Amino acid sequence: MANYLFDRLLSPAVPPDRPFIQPGPGPGLDYGALRRATGRLAHVLAGLGVLPGDRVAVQVDKSVDALVLYLACVRAGAVFLPLNTGYTPAEVDYFVGDARPRLLVTGSGGAAAARDIAARHGARVETLDPAGTGSLQVAAEAAPDDFATVPRGAEDLAAILYTSGTTGRSKGAMLSHANLASNAETLVDYWRFTAGDVLIHALPIFHTHGLFVATNVILLAGASMIFLARFDAGEVLSLMPRATCLMGVPTFYTRLVDHPGLDRAAVSGMRLFISGSAPLLAETHRDFAARTGHAILERYGMTETNMNTSNPYDRERVPGTVGFPLPGVALRIADPESGAAMAPGAIGMIEVKGPNVFKGYWQMPEKTAAEFRPDGFFITGDLGRVDERGYVHIVGRGKDLVISGGFNVYPKEVEGEIDALPGVIESAVIGLPHADFGEGVTAVVVRRKGADVTEAAVLDALAERLAKFKQPKAVIFVDDLPRNTMGKVQKNILRETYKGLYA
Ligand code: ATP
Ligand code: MG
Repeated sequence: MANYLFDRLLSPAVPPDRPFIQPGPGPGLDYGALRRATGRLAHVLAGLGVLPGDRVAVQVDKSVDALVLYLACVRAGAVFLPLNTGYTPAEVDYFVGDARPRLLVTGSGGAAAARDIAARHGARVETLDPAGTGSLQVAAEAAPDDFATVPRGAEDLAAILYTSGTTGRSKGAMLSHANLASNAETLVDYWRFTAGDVLIHALPIFHTHGLFVATNVILLAGASMIFLARFDAGEVLSLMPRATCLMGVPTFYTRLVDHPGLDRAAVSGMRLFISGSAPLLAETHRDFAARTGHAILERYGMTETNMNTSNPYDRERVPGTVGFPLPGVALRIADPESGAAMAPGAIGMIEVKGPNVFKGYWQMPEKTAAEFRPDGFFITGDLGRVDERGYVHIVGRGKDLVISGGFNVYPKEVEGEIDALPGVIESAVIGLPHADFGEGVTAVVVRRKGADVTEAAVLDALAERLAKFKQPKAVIFVDDLPRNTMGKVQKNILRETYKGLYA
């Protein structure tokens, strides 16, 4: 039997001398060397007693070796479990206790804290670091290049990926070989990736975007990437002449737009700019297009489902929308309570079904059962609508819906009105406990430097544009909205900070 995902990601059809990692800033790596490196590391894993189905938890700084570890885990039949590098030892303790991995891999610096955690949960600690001096890397140097790839089928688990924890405690999404392979195959096609593509990779690799979307797409296409430890607008601009595409979170694009070097000449060799993980402001889309002539292609996905929808490659990429359901993905808009189909164009819960959708939450059978409809559709938790042309619009998360005086207020609608006001950069609309209304609509607003937008000015402007029940009861000005590493606005933090406003 073959190994479903590994055989596809590292297809023998790709010539071994073709580059996978372009040289600069670090050394380059071709496909042949990548295959050999996965073989050596898979030997080390097997030698450490990692058996098919065992979890390997990994909290390490971004490096090419960390990608090799991902592929070696898949090759050895293990379940790769990456953890956000920002997690504290207390948080890692929770994940390790939950996932019970055979190995916990950390950077060389974090090994002491990791040993305590691992001891508590029966795991073993190994290290891996960007300098190449970790215990796994040293052991791999002496290991043979050839490894008898462990057979795995389409339905076997390849990874457990914890959700970002934007709305509550992170949940471990169980992703099968076929979940990952099918989505990457679809995206290669939909976004027209070929062997000639060079991706600028500046995303973290503990999240579905940088790990699965970016890396798996490049591997399947036999293409290459410029691999950066982090995003820096100036550096990314200087690398564009050597690249063809960029995948980013919206923050990448707002920073590029803020950079004076962004113009048509700078992007002349680029064919595609993709955005996802959080909503891209329509204004950023327009500013970017005005400066570069490129319409950013926005898509929508989640840890549990990989990618669900995408704006089209050839046809119009509509700002503020996430495009069409991907081929093979069924998407419907349902009544959040009953699950009944909504009238065309109405706002409701986005539900999806397809080969991309995960196998359930790790060790949470009740939660898993609650998030699936009897006919197999997964309840995403995102509210949206499909317009008459078939484009999907996300209006916010179900958990962020504000119910004021019994009326539903969709934050995105109010945010859109506020963001369009002169002097406003962006806003977050939240519901706060309110004695009369249940929840009071509240706007948290970031002003442009030097702009003298006042609460009264915002409220006056909205009075003409929105029904009374949608109008904020208060406007709070802040310097920045709280965001996590993927650029997602953390509304739970805002709700907690201002919970006593109407008390
Ligand atoms: P948790 O589920 O733990 O609260 P999370 O949902 O933020 O965290 P992820 O799986 O990383 O964790 O993110 C998926 C979510 O990101 C989607 O459900 C959606 O709300 C949001 N998202 C992704 N892409 C887009 C997009 N293009 N536009 C708007 N929202 C998006
Ligand atoms: Mg989620």
